[in-house]
Amino acid sequence: MLINDLSPKITFLRDTINGAISRVLNRSRLVLGPEVNAFEKAFAAYLSVNYCRTVANGTDALEFGLRAVGIQQGDKVATIANAGFYTSTALLAIGAIPLYLDVDLETQLVSKEEVKRAIFEGARCIVVTHLYGRGVSNIAEIATFCRAANVFLLEDCAQAHGVRIQGKQAGSFGDIGCFSFYPTKNLGALGDGGAIVCHDSELAEKVSQLRQYGWSTKYQIALSGARNSRLDEIQAAILLEFLPYLDDWNTRRREIAAQYSTRITYPEIILPPIGKEDYVAHLYVIRSTKRDMLREHLKKQGIATDVHYPIPDHRQPVFGDSFSKLHLPHTEMLAQEILTLPCYPEMSQNDVERVINAVNTMPEQLPLQKRTIDALL
Ligand SMILES: *Cc1c(COP(=O)(O)O)cnc(C)c1O
Repeated sequence: MLINDLSPKITFLRDTINGAISRVLNRSRLVLGPEVNAFEKAFAAYLSVNYCRTVANGTDALEFGLRAVGIQQGDKVATIANAGFYTSTALLAIGAIPLYLDVDLETQLVSKEEVKRAIFEGARCIVVTHLYGRGVSNIAEIATFCRAANVFLLEDCAQAHGVRIQGKQAGSFGDIGCFSFYPTKNLGALGDGGAIVCHDSELAEKVSQLRQYGWSTKYQIALSGARNSRLDEIQAAILLEFLPYLDDWNTRRREIAAQYSTRITYPEIILPPIGKEDYVAHLYVIRSTKRDMLREHLKKQGIATDVHYPIPDHRQPVFGDSFSKLHLPHTEMLAQEILTLPCYPEMSQNDVERVINAVNTMPEQLPLQKRTIDALL
C-alpha cells in the first residue's frame, strides 16, 4: 500500500478531467485566461474572501504573500520549524530572517505564547501553518493581537483546504492565506499550482504583478522581486472541476482518521486528536518512541509510511551552525517520534483495516530506539 495513491481518483474522474482539458484545448487559450479567472472567483467564494490570485506553486504563494505585505531582506519573520521548510525557502529567497517558534506538543501547531514572543522579539510578520490539516484554534485571537501590534499575519493553508475554525475558513483570518495545489494536497491539481487569497485589493494587485515579471501594464515593470509564476489554464480547469468535491473528500479523510484514532490500540503510540470541521486530516501523524521499528514492521507488511518532517528547519544543513544555539525542545523531540500513516480519501475500507491490524500486531517489549541528544534536552 502506498502512502498516497492518486490513481483511483484519476480513474474515477477521468471523463471530468478529459472534459476540462478539452474545454481548454478547444479555446486554445493556455495561460491567464477564463479558466484561471473562473477558478480564482470560485475559490475566493468558497473561502469567503474578496480576492484569489493563482500562482505556479505553494512556495511561490508564500514568497509573494510575504513580498506583498512588504517583507524585505533583513526583516524578521516568525514561523514554526516542523513544517517542511517551505516557508523557510520563501524567506531565503527574500533574504528575510527566520525567527523559529516551538510548537505545542499535543497539536504540533504554534501556540499563542510563541506568537507573542515573536512579536516581542521584533517579528514584522508571523506565518501560521495549519499543519497536517489541523486549524490553529485561536487564529482569530492571534489575528487580533497581530493587528494591534502592527505585525502582518500570513496563514499557510497548503495542508488545510476547507478547514473551518469557528465557522470561518482557514486562510481568511490573516492578511494573506497561501495555498498549494500540489497533486496530493486536499485540493490538488494534476501538476503544480498555488494561490494566495486576501481581503485587500492592493495586496491582490501586488501579487498579480509579482506573478508576471512585475508588470503594472504589459511590458511596464513596476515592481522588483517578481518573476514568472502562473497557474496554467489546464490546471485551473481541472481545479475548477475538483473544488465541488473538496468537502466530501475532507469528510472521508476525517472518517479514516477517526477510525485510526478509535481502533489503533497498540500501547506505545500517541494518536493525534481528531477534530470536527477544524480538521481535514491532510496527514495522519502518530507519535511513538519506537517510530523506526514501527516503520520497519509496517514496511514488512507492505504498508508505506513517511515522516513529515524528519529534519527541523533550524537543523537543516543549509544553515550551517547559524542556529546551533537555538533549541526548540518540542519540535526536536517530535522529529524523532512522528510517523505518517496512509490517509487519503480514495483508500478502500480494506486498506484502512489492513493499516489498523498491522499497527496493532506490532510486537511489544521492544527496546527504546536510540534518540539524539537533541531530543532528550
Ligand atoms: C506543500 C506545502 C507547501 C508548498 O507547496 P508547493 O506547491 O509544493 O510549493 C507549503 N507549505 C506546506 C505546509 C506544505 O505542505
